[in-house]
Amino acid sequence: MSETTDTIFSKIIRREIPADIVYEDNLALAFKDIHPQAPIHILVIPKKPIVKLSDAESQDHALLGHLLLTAKRVAEEAGLKNGYRVVINTGDDGGQTVSHLHLHILGGRQLNWPPG
Ligand code: AMP
Repeated sequence: MSETTDTIFSKIIRREIPADIVYEDNLALAFKDIHPQAPIHILVIPKKPIVKLSDAESQDHALLGHLLLTAKRVAEEAGLKNGYRVVINTGDDGGQTVSHLHLHILGGRQLNWPPG
């Protein structure tokens, strides 16, 4: 994971590259993952370019809460009545590949545990 704040997700926020956007407000954006790992796979990102969860600071506490509530809202709007999973891959060992904090919403099938 390269530590840059100008990532493909920043370009999606700025509408420089296309994405299938399902929700937007002044703090967050949600769009469909380009390589879905489940029938529903949506990413929720902050517009603030926080690189990863471990870089978030105490001043971000309201934003982090907003991202979780946005994930809940997006999951409801996607029809995930039977449950879903929210995942935040963090850093290299966490499997993070895009250096802009993002929540994965995965659903529409029975998900396995533990993840790999
Ligand atoms: P992570 O491995 O947690 O960093 O997840 C990054 C996610 O971003 C992966 O699931 C990718 O499929 C997804 N992704 C990468 N580029 C795009 C894109 N242009 N539009 C939508 N999703 C993307």
